Amino acid sequence: MDGFALKPVELYEVGPRDGLQNEAARLPVEAKLRLIDAIAAAGLSRIEVGSFVRADWIPQLADTDEVARQLRPWPGVRFSALVPNRHGLDRALAAGLREVAVFMSSTEAHNRKNTNKSIAESLELFHEIVPVATQAGTRVRAYLSTVWGCPYEGKVDPRRSLTIALALKEMGCGEISLGDTIGVGNPRQTQEIVRMFFAAGFGPGELALHLHDTNGTALANTLAALDLGVRIFDTSIGGMGGCPYAPGAAGNLATEDVASMLADMGVSTGIDLEKLIDAGELAQELIGRKLTGRRLQAALGRRAGTEARRAAST
Ligand code: MG
Repeated sequence: MDGFALKPVELYEVGPRDGLQNEAARLPVEAKLRLIDAIAAAGLSRIEVGSFVRADWIPQLADTDEVARQLRPWPGVRFSALVPNRHGLDRALAAGLREVAVFMSSTEAHNRKNTNKSIAESLELFHEIVPVATQAGTRVRAYLSTVWGCPYEGKVDPRRSLTIALALKEMGCGEISLGDTIGVGNPRQTQEIVRMFFAAGFGPGELALHLHDTNGTALANTLAALDLGVRIFDTSIGGMGGCPYAPGAAGNLATEDVASMLADMGVSTGIDLEKLIDAGELAQELIGRKLTGRRLQAALGRRAGTEARRAAST
């Protein structure tokens, strides 16, 4: 590993949004707030709390206005939510959010399926709303999906993603999160993509990776990107979310798995690993199923073992 890899890394928590939107369970506002508080208490400095899309599209997140309004302020923590259009942006601003995220795909078929728009139409829409947000003092992140591969179009030329990302940057998106939406990326491909983006002028503070673990390669891809200087990774508490294209498979990379690996490597994230396990345990309780995070399951198993030994020795 090069020396640059020892610089701090920021984990962007997507569990309360990307995790919950792919879970069958519907949590009440109060439960979401408890989960968000537990994640913030563990030291995550960026948390995506919901989505201002139409309630009938993603019923799990229909109460995002209420969640955003009731967020407890945590010093140093930035909360964000997805906005699909001007109405969503207005709702986000009215709920007091100072950061939002727009989203689109690198491929026409996926963009059409996900947003009902062509790529050109998405860019045109964001051209209207992103400056409105930034002029209101709101930071804008942009998600760009299907960078490593598309469930409909297969292999994707990263130059297509780069062209879109440059347009998004130009209109005021301060951070682009590149998505391996179906989790098909490999470390070599990851390095090719990251090199291309850095060479085109993106700095480490402007580029995030949103990796999925469908094929078990997300940590390897994380390491490959880290070695080239990527500093922001999207992760989900407990690995909440699954993969919408492969039912039963892992989706989002678990926050605990990345945070623990980085801690073991001596890379600072500002995260308290014990409190992170507490947050993962809470997520699992609230969702009502065993989550996929490996470190979470290992830690909970150890805790259960300690309890059992304690009980046996008394
Ligand atoms: Mg995801």
